[in-house]
Amino acid sequence: MASFSSIPRATAQRVPVYNHYLKSLQEKGIKRTNSKEISAGVKYDPATVRRDFSFFGELGKRGYGYDVDSLVTFFSGKLEDQKVNKIALIGAGNIGSALVRNNFSSADNLDIVVAFDININNGNKKIINENGTEVSVFDISEFQKISREYGAQIAIITVPEQFAQEIANQVVKAGYKGILNFTAVHLTLPKTVRVKDVDLTREAQTLVYFVNNQDKIKSI
Ligand code: NAD
Repeated sequence: MASFSSIPRATAQRVPVYNHYLKSLQEKGIKRTNSKEISAGVKYDPATVRRDFSFFGELGKRGYGYDVDSLVTFFSGKLEDQKVNKIALIGAGNIGSALVRNNFSSADNLDIVVAFDININNGNKKIINENGTEVSVFDISEFQKISREYGAQIAIITVPEQFAQEIANQVVKAGYKGILNFTAVHLTLPKTVRVKDVDLTREAQTLVYFVNNQDKIKSI
């Protein structure tokens, strides 16, 4: 059976989506499913679902489909094999606070454990996330010291653009392995630090383009 490191990245990225959907079936008491149903539930085409599942070996039985409990056990195990990623967030303003509050609630292996901001009243701001856990927001001047205490490896940057590179430099210095960058700045980083840019404007523009050109795109 394949380990996470030996399956395609796109498949690995879909595993939390499969697991989330299968857990929802489990909660409804559904015991059995098939790739067509899973495909409809997760909105990936059936061929993608079948191909993804094939990377994990014999998960289903011909003519029976898949046992929901076994699949949840299997996928949950795969996700647990991955380390829980402790995440620090820098810039607890509008977007940052919303992310801390939500704390990627649909993913079991992501956890925003600490936040930083330049504007902290009384030095003890806290944000309560959806699990009811208090997340402390520290002054950015304490970033190097506190980061080490919390052991976060991933940083989310949600500061105003003009501070993004300066914050990224601090993140690199503190030994983080990855950055989820919400600013529009193209960050300069060493090769050892991975970055993923999140740009909702671009996503919205792409959607608008497809909506406005639907007829032309269909006829190509
Ligand atoms: P905001 O002003 O509400 O929040 C920014 C926070 O960063 C504030 O709390 C501020 O005190 C803090 N901050 C400023 N300088 C800092 C520093 N040096 N160190 C630590 N904290 C600092 O802004 P917002 O609306 O939450 O937007 C945050 C960022 O996200 C901006 O860069 C914005 O352009 C970007 N943004 C991205 C998307 C997207 O799709 N990715 C969408 C909207 C906004």
